[in-house]
Amino acid sequence: MKILEVKAKTALNRSGMVELDYAFNAYLGCMHGCRYCYAADMTPGESAATWGDAVRIRTNIIDVLREEMKGRRRGLVGVSTITDPYQPVEARYMLSRQAIDLLLNGGFRVSVQTKSPLVLRDLDIFRDRKGLDVGVSLATPHTEISRLIDSKSPLPEARMRTLRVLSENGIKTWLFLGPIIPGINDSNESLETLISLASDLKIRVIYDLLNQYNGARSMLSSSLGSSWESEARSINRRLWWQETEAKITGLAREYQVDCNSEASELKAETNILYKPLY
Ligand code: SF4
Repeated sequence: MKILEVKAKTALNRSGMVELDYAFNAYLGCMHGCRYCYAADMTPGESAATWGDAVRIRTNIIDVLREEMKGRRRGLVGVSTITDPYQPVEARYMLSRQAIDLLLNGGFRVSVQTKSPLVLRDLDIFRDRKGLDVGVSLATPHTEISRLIDSKSPLPEARMRTLRVLSENGIKTWLFLGPIIPGINDSNESLETLISLASDLKIRVIYDLLNQYNGARSMLSSSLGSSWESEARSINRRLWWQETEAKITGLAREYQVDCNSEASELKAETNILYKPLY
């Protein structure tokens, strides 16, 4: 793993996600290196070319953020949008922790999305805070599938436990169910396990299908094999997604879970390329 320290010129960037006012990314590149990650297509420089093997630490970003906050309209900040804010380097640098605390103290709302139990380190600054939500991403409850598609990320079991602890601590929590990949993690059993977990914890679900970015597609093909790619190409994607969404919404009704798709946000995202961040 190559870890490089760089300087940030900006901290609060416009987000391609329509529900967010700003994106905050303390790190460029992601040590989790998930094979389906669209962020590889949106990250400038070497971190994209070596996805999962290099991460750049924007060491001065807290100072930049502090200055930028002075003149910015308050709004919702995504922490993070093109990396995992609680990937292993966060244990040492603590940039996500500092940024979340600073933003909340400054009157911004913050939405965190991660796959890592390291987020639980920061329960002390999360408790009783208004304007904060924390999402945990799970594509599958099954270890063997996770090891194929997001092998460097924490195990599904650890992520499910993380959701439970966040929720038990009164943090506004949600489950990101995705990306859903044809023939890999779209079985009724897999979807039901995750939706029933959300029901048990009384939390929201946001679900999404696999984005069709080039980087993610070729990384996935190298993990899942060329037969997966030809099968995936042969299905009627629109029909498959209609059927999969019907399964998800049916399960959400059955388990009485508040469940929404990211489809509208996705449309906006595909037209946005991140400007260089440093
Ligand atoms: S954890 Fe998120 S940002 Fe990091 S590689 Fe996986 S999908 Fe991408």
